[in-house]
Amino acid sequence: MSAVEQNIKSIRANIPDGVELVCVSKYFPVDAIREAYNAGERLFGESRVQELATKSAQLPKDIKWHFIGHLQTNKVKQVVPLVDMIQSVDSLHLLDAIERAAADIDKIQKCLIEIHIAQEETKTGFSPHDFATLMTSTDWSKYPHVQICGLMGMASNTDDTERVRRDFQLLKTLADLSALRTISMGMSGDYRIAIEQGSTMVRIGSAIFQ
Ligand SMILES: *Cc1c(COP(=O)(O)O)cnc(C)c1O
Repeated sequence: MSAVEQNIKSIRANIPDGVELVCVSKYFPVDAIREAYNAGERLFGESRVQELATKSAQLPKDIKWHFIGHLQTNKVKQVVPLVDMIQSVDSLHLLDAIERAAADIDKIQKCLIEIHIAQEETKTGFSPHDFATLMTSTDWSKYPHVQICGLMGMASNTDDTERVRRDFQLLKTLADLSALRTISMGMSGDYRIAIEQGSTMVRIGSAIFQ
């Protein structure tokens, strides 16, 4: 068994049924993705447009790709045909571009709204306040080619597990209040806490591929 297969096996043992695993393959080679594919994984996450395009062209078509990085509006047209979901919607401007690109190819693009739940200023996403405004003041009929499935967030990068737990609780509360089902939270270092706090989708990279 390869190291990647072994890692997947031990991570899967910690993930209950009903929680989806996104294998975050950014920066890792196509061969490593093939090993995960051969272990049965079909859902992969990438954060760079060019890397996504190059890899997806070389890999089996039954892979579902999720875009998880900051997406520039001028790259949206390239991304929409390639991905099952865009997890990192962090502005209304981006949502406008996704609507246009999805309409062009007659697709309904599944999306998650990225929320800034961490303490660090450097992270992207809507603040909880701006998210509330987005939900209440957006004319959603203008977005027939966008389906908002839920929320995505990254917890504070800290050893303080109580802080991390509170970040995840906030995302879960916001999702529940807006009746959104998918809660994408939890990475290699904190996915167990995220699952405990109601995650429905974990995004794990280094613990699988490194
Ligand atoms: C890189 C990345 C991950 C995976 O992080 P690991 O710590 O390698 O598991 C998850 N989510 C996002 C948005 C990322 O950019």
